[in-house]
Amino acid sequence: MQDLSSSNQQIDLDAASNVVRQKKDTQLSLFAHIFDRVKEGIIVMDADKFMLFINPAFSAITGYSANDLIGKSLQLLHPGLMDDTLNYETWRSIDETGRWQGELVGRRKNEESYDEHLSISTMKNERGEVSYYICVFSDISERKAAEERVAYVVLHDFLTNLPNGLLLQDRLAQAISRAGRENRKVAVMCLDLDHFKAINDMLGHLVGDKLLQEVARRISSVGRVSDTVSRRGGDEFVVILPDLETVDDAAVIAVKLLEAISGLCKIDGNEIEITTSIGISIFPEDGCDGDHLIKYADAAMYHAKKNGRNNYQFFTNELNKLALERISTIQKLRHAEGRQEFCLHYQPQVDLRNGRIIGVEALLRWNNPEAGMIPPGYFIPIAEETGLIIPIGEWVLREACRQNSEWRMLGLPEITVAVNLSAVQFRQNNFIEMIQSVLCEYSLEPSGLALEITEGAVMHNAEASIALLLELKAMGLQIAVDDFGTGYSSLSYLKRFPIDKLKIDQSFVRDITVDSDDAAIVSTIINMARTLKLKVIAEGVETAEQLSFLKNQECDEMQGYYFSKPMPPEKITSLLVSGYEADSQWSYESQ
Ligand code: C2E
Ligand code: MG
Ligand code: MG
Repeated sequence: MQDLSSSNQQIDLDAASNVVRQKKDTQLSLFAHIFDRVKEGIIVMDADKFMLFINPAFSAITGYSANDLIGKSLQLLHPGLMDDTLNYETWRSIDETGRWQGELVGRRKNEESYDEHLSISTMKNERGEVSYYICVFSDISERKAAEERVAYVVLHDFLTNLPNGLLLQDRLAQAISRAGRENRKVAVMCLDLDHFKAINDMLGHLVGDKLLQEVARRISSVGRVSDTVSRRGGDEFVVILPDLETVDDAAVIAVKLLEAISGLCKIDGNEIEITTSIGISIFPEDGCDGDHLIKYADAAMYHAKKNGRNNYQFFTNELNKLALERISTIQKLRHAEGRQEFCLHYQPQVDLRNGRIIGVEALLRWNNPEAGMIPPGYFIPIAEETGLIIPIGEWVLREACRQNSEWRMLGLPEITVAVNLSAVQFRQNNFIEMIQSVLCEYSLEPSGLALEITEGAVMHNAEASIALLLELKAMGLQIAVDDFGTGYSSLSYLKRFPIDKLKIDQSFVRDITVDSDDAAIVSTIINMARTLKLKVIAEGVETAEQLSFLKNQECDEMQGYYFSKPMPPEKITSLLVSGYEADSQWSYESQ
């Protein structure tokens, strides 16, 4: 019985160990399956970092077969793992903590490198010594490449592939701190293409874009600047010259840039000559932080524009003064409307056939208690750049309509009030609704309002301008193209613009009696307007000779000091009350 029971016990033990073995076998084949099928590469190494096993995924990633590697040191595969990147200290810490992970650059059998994520863990024996290292790799090249693509897009300009403003700031900060340490200079150059907008408007955005790409190439081709050229947007580029010894070095590069850019460009069958204006500021002379240096280089660039374009200018203290003045003007301008510092003066527009006043142009005047009268030629461009022209322009429109409605209610001869519009307002979203509501508020008939828009404003995005002008025209407003002859109107567009009047710029009128070219331009404009069935008004008429020339050419209307300077509204009221006609005696002011 005893024997039997002991043999039964033996059977039970055998059965149990069979189950355990079976379980182990199942587990082992499961692990082998995982080892063979996972997409991560796995290497198992002994304590001396000689490779014992690699899995198929590892072969697929690296191109190495088991034969290539088994029994070899990890050094063969990953020199970096053994010395520099994973140095002695790291291996010691792996041995202590049992794990490590990080990103490394691996090398495939064909010598190609790839980005990998690697985690290493250890297996220890009963005595706590490492007996195996298990390295698990994944190929993260694609993810890394995608990350790099995103980073590239965020930091580069899509059109020219140059660094954008963000990367520029970073590079500039680095250049400044290096130059500070090494006692060197950094030059910041702001480049702005001359008349680019006109080219873009005339030849279209596609040609404009290709021109910008060509200019980017040309700037980058100038020695020393290649790695620090950036496009800030539009036609503005910024170049950083790090590590300069003297300021003169910057001037030498500026001359090279002017030359490189100015050669003829052939784009889609167009031959384009483009030039650029460059402003330069220097670290540490002009400033010690990037923002200021860029601002100062910008101020110097404006100075270069004023100086006739196609030249370079350094930032100076004088420019600094002007820049500070500009900032103070902006601050004052923000409060000018609320503090009732604006008023309108009106300059009569006279019909040359009968001497009657047919309209007035509203001209904005700004009387600041501290600065006195500030001319519109100074503050309007600042208002445009800062966007303040939107509320200011609306105030002008409102006041001009209110005034004309008042004149009409007094029963005076009906005139049209012409209001100047800046390009910014013309592109304002709710522009039409704003005009409608102002006309409605003052019960002014639309024919009592004319809008003066410069050539540049209408030519910028000509198709959109045509749509907007058609709406204004349908409302019954009159539209005049101001400063005509100074922009780049395309005749084919001019024919399609629903405009009423061309206003010949005063720069042509000024010399019509002494300069035969100007005389020819003025009579050509008058003839062209007649063909296009448009009215013509000459502005800036100052002398009897100019007037008689215009009358001879059958110009329709005139405006200028010869008849009257812009006047406060009360004076216009008395002029209209008097029923004044200019035929007998032209100079109203000399009455
Ligand atoms: P603009 O629209 O071409 O106005 C004509 C300018 O020429 C006015 O200068 C006027 O005073 C001046 N002028 C008129 N007749 C003569 C003359 O016989 N000889 C000379 N030498 N000048 C004459 P102002 O008032 O200084 O305005 C300058 C510019 O400022 C205007 O040129 C216009 O572009 C802008 N502006 C004025 N008011 C406004 C406004 O309310 N809104 C906008 N957006 N711009 C305005
Ligand atoms: Mg005007
Ligand atoms: Mg004008």
